[in-house]
Amino acid sequence: MTVTTATRETSQQAARTDVAAAPMDLRHDWSRDEIKALFELPLMDLLFRAQTVHRQYFDPNRIQMSTLLSIKTGACPEDCKYCPQSGHYNTGLKKEKLLEVEKVVTQAKAALDSGASRFCMGAAWKNPSEKDFPYVLEMVRQVRGLGLETCMTLGALTPEQAKELAEAGLDYYNHNLDTSPEYYGEIISTRTYQGRLDTLSHVREAGMKVCSGGIVGMGETAADRVGLLQQLANMPMHPDSVPINNLVKVKGTPLADVADLDPFDFVRTIAVARILMPASYVRLSAGRQEMNEQTQALCFMAGANSIFYGEKLLTTPLPEESQDLALFRKLGLQPEGVCKDRAERAQQALYYSAS
Ligand code: SF4
Repeated sequence: MTVTTATRETSQQAARTDVAAAPMDLRHDWSRDEIKALFELPLMDLLFRAQTVHRQYFDPNRIQMSTLLSIKTGACPEDCKYCPQSGHYNTGLKKEKLLEVEKVVTQAKAALDSGASRFCMGAAWKNPSEKDFPYVLEMVRQVRGLGLETCMTLGALTPEQAKELAEAGLDYYNHNLDTSPEYYGEIISTRTYQGRLDTLSHVREAGMKVCSGGIVGMGETAADRVGLLQQLANMPMHPDSVPINNLVKVKGTPLADVADLDPFDFVRTIAVARILMPASYVRLSAGRQEMNEQTQALCFMAGANSIFYGEKLLTTPLPEESQDLALFRKLGLQPEGVCKDRAERAQQALYYSAS
């Protein structure tokens, strides 16, 4: 991204003024021009501003750790061009039926033992079927019974399904917007952007927390990254969890040969997400395997405070657990316990602003 001298001077002034202003207000009316101006700040100013906001809502040295298990793998009827699980592409992925409840619970216990506070379960479905849904509900009940937070990603939900999941004890539901509304049609043709927003509304109405983010490095423009973050930040309530994924290119998918995103543009995306949604967990998600330690550290500096931890991110590999812990040690980071809710974070924000 090019930063002109004039842009730099204006941006620096804006950054200083804004940091001095009360950054605790959550806004839902960001214009694209405002978001673009944040992306175009000199990197050091952007990082400073993101880190300043981050410290008002979170302990900067704690990282929330989630573990993700694929409970049903492959043969998905959707055509998401980045996804090795789509039945439209031949990626050599081994397809699996819905896992048995006992197997899921065994994996959840292992995740708990290795320090995860949240257990995410993902199924490659358009939407959960009537036949499978009771098993899914039982997984939620049993995993929650272990003391873990629960999250699921099962595709589109009806309002009734959202209600049943909430009643079973599901804490979070993940449904990503993926990209900007303008670029969306280049990536997926089998479900609509509006359908995704509808599912997220059902999740909110049922009283669950929303996990929603996107993927960058899919050949989108800088304006598309602005558009994605605007959609997320201008929801009536910010998603509680915002995964920012860097495309993992998988052979056999249509995006296998797309050009790499500059790592600094990835870091900028994290920083802008942090500024726009200061009370949300921003998750450094897929693509971490390909990042060196220094880039990961910059992402934490930019306000990422959640990672997926464990062997696999659905079907693409994650850094070894021990590598993660070694990096945490080097950076003085610590895993967070079960996620705080908004009220607790608001109290923490008051504490930090008063001290
Ligand atoms: S991203 Fe989800 S919905 Fe899209 S193809 Fe993959 S599993 Fe299916």
